[in-house]
Amino acid sequence: MSKNANEQFTALAERRRSVGVRVGSVMVGGDAPIVVQSMTNTDTADVEATVRQVAALARAGSELVRITVDRDEAAAAVPKIKERLLRMGVDAPLIGDFHYIGHQLLADHPDCAVALDKYRINPGNVGFKDKKDRQFAAIVETAIRHSKPIRIGANWGSLDQELLTHLMDENAKSATPLDAREVTREAMVRSALLSAARAEEVGLGRDRIILSAKVSAVQDLIAVYAMLARRSDYALHLGLTEAGMGSKGIVASSAALGVLLQQGIGDTIRISLTPEPGGDRTREVQVAQELLQTMGLRAFVPLVAACPGCGRTTSTTFQELASEVQTYIRDRMPEWKRQYPGVETLSVAVMGCIVNGPGESKHADIGISLPGTGEQPTAPVFVDGKKAATLRGPTLTADFKQMVEDYVARRFGVAARPAAE
Ligand code: SF4
Repeated sequence: MSKNANEQFTALAERRRSVGVRVGSVMVGGDAPIVVQSMTNTDTADVEATVRQVAALARAGSELVRITVDRDEAAAAVPKIKERLLRMGVDAPLIGDFHYIGHQLLADHPDCAVALDKYRINPGNVGFKDKKDRQFAAIVETAIRHSKPIRIGANWGSLDQELLTHLMDENAKSATPLDAREVTREAMVRSALLSAARAEEVGLGRDRIILSAKVSAVQDLIAVYAMLARRSDYALHLGLTEAGMGSKGIVASSAALGVLLQQGIGDTIRISLTPEPGGDRTREVQVAQELLQTMGLRAFVPLVAACPGCGRTTSTTFQELASEVQTYIRDRMPEWKRQYPGVETLSVAVMGCIVNGPGESKHADIGISLPGTGEQPTAPVFVDGKKAATLRGPTLTADFKQMVEDYVARRFGVAARPAAE
């Protein structure tokens, strides 16, 4: 076997030990792989639209999907959404996102409380003053009654103001006061940890608690999660909140989450991208998968290594070949996944010219190298590090795709598996 993606996966950062939490059929934390999750942006009361989007996110690879539960109509829709999804064969656990009136909605809609696989609450938004503890406890008791986990998700934008004010006052009296930003980071961490301790007092097990503390600035996020990781062993949900649109959102999320994941921090991730108007919500799932896979933490789809192209590839031949191979692999994955276990670790190279092409192609399981501009497209193909064929002419792309298909069947098909004892 050639040097491939499998070998990269041995270079993992050591994972922080966390308490594993079962969310429906999915484990988060403990020894489980890092889980990808996403969130819908449909009105949950619109059953049809929400079912469609949850199914799309799950099929794109989201292993948990969160939906907003903000009013009676949304809570009433949840059991119908769950039932419709199960009938379609979509069993991704559903998480209900509650703010302000979660205690009431869960009490008034017991079918919703049962249909959801996890409740997400924000300690800054469960209620104020004397109502806060009572309403928080009511949600926790509902979770205990239905054997559901809870994510306690503090958020910079809705931080517990009483706690923040208290810490600011304490800091002002200190002989060595910290700056306001550090106090706010501490308030985020304390808000999550104090709420988790309170949930445990009410009777929720540690194996039913996931924490998050989302902020929108990269350095704050890294600092806050490093503190949380040092001070607890709860499973952690990572995400940069309000990451933004397009490349800014992707870069900011990847920078923040990449640093934390490399330190072994994080049991589940969400990339909070703002979609373009009419854009595809599943993009956030793809980015989360690509982040984990390019870091060598998990494998989801075969990776295609392609050079950026340069003056030696001024024709479009190379770009078209790279794009067609990438699309072909993505399109074939649903079937490949069913037929060929392990295919997600396949590595493919599509290279533009002889400078780095043959070398990079030899490192992949299967790779093709074009000759560069101005030359007849005559392309050597390398399989498991050895030259296996030379492709040329108008069928070059189709021939290479067929070679990839044959390689996948040979390497990951039934004949390649060890016989059962
Ligand atoms: S492999 Fe060739 S075409 Fe690709 S970037 Fe390098 S020099 Fe340019």
